[in-house]
Amino acid sequence: MKEVFILSGSNRGDRQGFISKATDMIEQMAGAVVRKSSVYETSPWGFDDPTPFLNQVIEIETMLSPEDLLEILLTIEVKLGRIRPFDGCGCGIPASPDHGTGKKDAPAYAGRTIDLDILFYGQRLIFTDKLMVPHPRLHERAFTLVPLNEVVPEFVHPLLKKTIAMLLHECRDQAKVKKMDD
Ligand code: AMP
Repeated sequence: MKEVFILSGSNRGDRQGFISKATDMIEQMAGAVVRKSSVYETSPWGFDDPTPFLNQVIEIETMLSPEDLLEILLTIEVKLGRIRPFDGCGCGIPASPDHGTGKKDAPAYAGRTIDLDILFYGQRLIFTDKLMVPHPRLHERAFTLVPLNEVVPEFVHPLLKKTIAMLLHECRDQAKVKKMDD
């Protein structure tokens, strides 16, 4: 069975509500949710924003290809009101940080009602302009590794060939990742 993992994140408005709604929509549009981590709170990573993020990892069973799954996740993000900071042309895909505007000081991250990332699609390796799987920065981020480690500590990263538990042990990210009450 493929193990497909998605990370949800929110730091705007009803953060828990957005994460729950996104999970419901994923279940309706992509496939059954088979496992969920707890929800964790982490300070924003890589940009200055006073509102902490909530994050959760979910595992789904899906018939969708990775590319179709990404399209569904982008649709859910738009439906839940995410505004992409570089999406000047409205295509929904920030091709580059300046998105062709030439503004080199455009922010690399911004607050978001919901952010959905494909972390792993089984052991598949995908490197296209639109999609990188495994997510290229997942092993650098405590807010991704901590919830992943709760659900699948023995899952082996198909490129780094290390378990999630090992990657978490080696991760230098000092950000505090706090488990929220159930
Ligand atoms: P971000 O705004 O940082 O969440 O970036 C979203 C964009 O990253 C999407 O439009 C995708 O085309 C691209 N992307 C590349 N790899 C992934 C992935 N593994 N999961 C989700 N989005 C991805």
